[in-house]
Amino acid sequence: MYLESSVKRKTLQTLFPSSCYYKLNFWNIKRLIIPVLCTYILVDCFARENLPNWNLLDSFQGLLTKQEFEHTLKTIYCPRVSWYENWLKLNRGEVLIRKKMGKDDWYILSFRDGNLSSNAPRQFSISDQNNSLHGFCIALDPGHIGGAFSKMEGRHFSIGGEKPVKEGDLVLAVAKSLSKKLSILGAEVHLLREQNKPVTTFRPKDFEKESEDWLKQKEIQLKRKYSRIERQKLLTQRKEVLFYRVSEIHARADHINKVIRPDLTICLHLNAAPWANPDKFELVERNDFHILVNGCYMGGELSDDNQRFEMLFRLLNGWHKKEKLIAENLSNAFSRITKLPAFNYKGPNALKIGDVPGVWARNLLANRIYRCPVVFLEPYVVNSRDAFGRIILGDYKGKKKLNGELKYSLVEEYAKSVLEGIRNSCLFIR
Ligand SMILES: [Zn+2]
Repeated sequence: MYLESSVKRKTLQTLFPSSCYYKLNFWNIKRLIIPVLCTYILVDCFARENLPNWNLLDSFQGLLTKQEFEHTLKTIYCPRVSWYENWLKLNRGEVLIRKKMGKDDWYILSFRDGNLSSNAPRQFSISDQNNSLHGFCIALDPGHIGGAFSKMEGRHFSIGGEKPVKEGDLVLAVAKSLSKKLSILGAEVHLLREQNKPVTTFRPKDFEKESEDWLKQKEIQLKRKYSRIERQKLLTQRKEVLFYRVSEIHARADHINKVIRPDLTICLHLNAAPWANPDKFELVERNDFHILVNGCYMGGELSDDNQRFEMLFRLLNGWHKKEKLIAENLSNAFSRITKLPAFNYKGPNALKIGDVPGVWARNLLANRIYRCPVVFLEPYVVNSRDAFGRIILGDYKGKKKLNGELKYSLVEEYAKSVLEGIRNSCLFIR
């Protein structure tokens, strides 16, 4: 209805008025720079109307020593001084945090005197000897939408006359299998979606104005006008990405932050590699996995008031400790069960975390705005010879002999790996 729609639109605008996310599409695309799927890159920012509420940091006054704060900042959240020096000023007894870009207005967060003992609440405790997950609330976030939206999302490809591979559909199947397994161990499990349909009530047509504004801004920056055909193409892409990426993830964040409030969110994805020849799809040999925690905020990202706030909010909550521990257990489980090698990043947009292979920090929309510990999974390269050969067999029961080895379906193997990783973490995060 019109009334409902305009009310919701207003809420949505205050949630993400910048409309500034751009995706790298790795499933059916042309040229790529960074060989990793499912990444959400911030490329530009407009003035935001919804300023962060810096007072939410008040409860963290005097919590960390300067050494603790600086160590966490450099090893997890922002490895380069040049990326944060305009936004954070570390003094002896406090850190000054710039509240608004371009303004000389600072939030002052005091450090704890190193001689005083910490009042920090216990971060987590190990579960009982039965590996029970009783009392542990987990949100499972099957990435993307899938179904009729998979092509629009760029998470869809077909090859050799086989059924199309849709990331959204596959990870939903993983989430359903995993949900049952975790529930048996006593966990309270919530699926962010149970069908291949959007969680957001918005559709691309609801983003006409934002897309027009974005395009005008782009033309001003580039000092050129696009042709009518170029404009149409860019506007369509922009409206779609605001729908299936930004609006969709914000709708899920709303549900996580206001309704579920879980101890942990697991974002389920599948990776893909660039096609060697984008005009002729040929399966690749590379097949691997990696696990992401939140971190590695780059300079441009920290210039955004909301991202800067979210980084500090996560750091002060200590969520990185839980994310790292769970990600390391998940990485070990994926290594053992799938026997896949761990993927290594080369560029500055990811930071290696700890010593366990395959665990990296990145700043993604979902792992930034879901206000709880989040681990983001990127196992399997779906357009590899190995993974594709297994995907087209479907989600069969039991094991099948593949290349002389008995294997579960890829969906089942994925779910079993996550279950083992969570179980070995044995956490009660409260
Ligand atoms: Zn994905």
